[in-house]
Amino acid sequence: MSALEGGCACGAVRYRLKSGPMFVNCCHCQDCQRQLGSAFVINAVIETDRIEVLSGELAVTTLPTDSGRPHDVYRCTACGTTIWSDYGRRKVMSFLRATTLDDRAVLSPDAHIFTRSKLPWVILPPDVPAFEVFYDLPNQWPPESLARLQTLMGG
Ligand SMILES: [Zn+2]
Ligand SMILES: [Zn+2]
Repeated sequence: MSALEGGCACGAVRYRLKSGPMFVNCCHCQDCQRQLGSAFVINAVIETDRIEVLSGELAVTTLPTDSGRPHDVYRCTACGTTIWSDYGRRKVMSFLRATTLDDRAVLSPDAHIFTRSKLPWVILPPDVPAFEVFYDLPNQWPPESLARLQTLMGG
C-alpha cells in the first residue's frame, strides 16, 4: 500500500493516515448525494487519532441529516474541501473522504450502502457486498477491524 497521504483542493491541509482504515463504505444515501453534489461518497472509517494533520487548519460545520443525527464535517478553512466527518458526535471515529487521498485508487469500497437511493445509472460491481440500507458490522467487518472498533468504543 502506498503512503496514505492526502489533502484539500488548495493544498493548505495535508494529512497522513497512521494505518489503513477499519472499513471502506461507499454510501449512496440522499444526505451524501446532496452534501457532495455527487452520486455517492467513499468513506474510509478510521480512528480519528490515526489521522495526522500535517498542515493547514480545519473548521467544523454541522450539517442536518435525514436521520436527525448531527453530522459534523471538517473542512479546510481556506478552500472548504471536506476531509472527514463524524456522525452523532462520536468524535473518536471518523469517516475520511477517501478520494482526498493523493492516490485515489488505493482504497476501494468494502461495501456499498444505502443502495435504495443509488442513482439508476450507477452499476455496482458484482463481487462487492451491497445493501439497501446498512449491514450488521460483525457480518461484514474483518475480525481485526471489529477488535479495533471495540477498543475505540472502550469495551
Ligand atoms: Zn484547502
Ligand atoms: Zn451517506
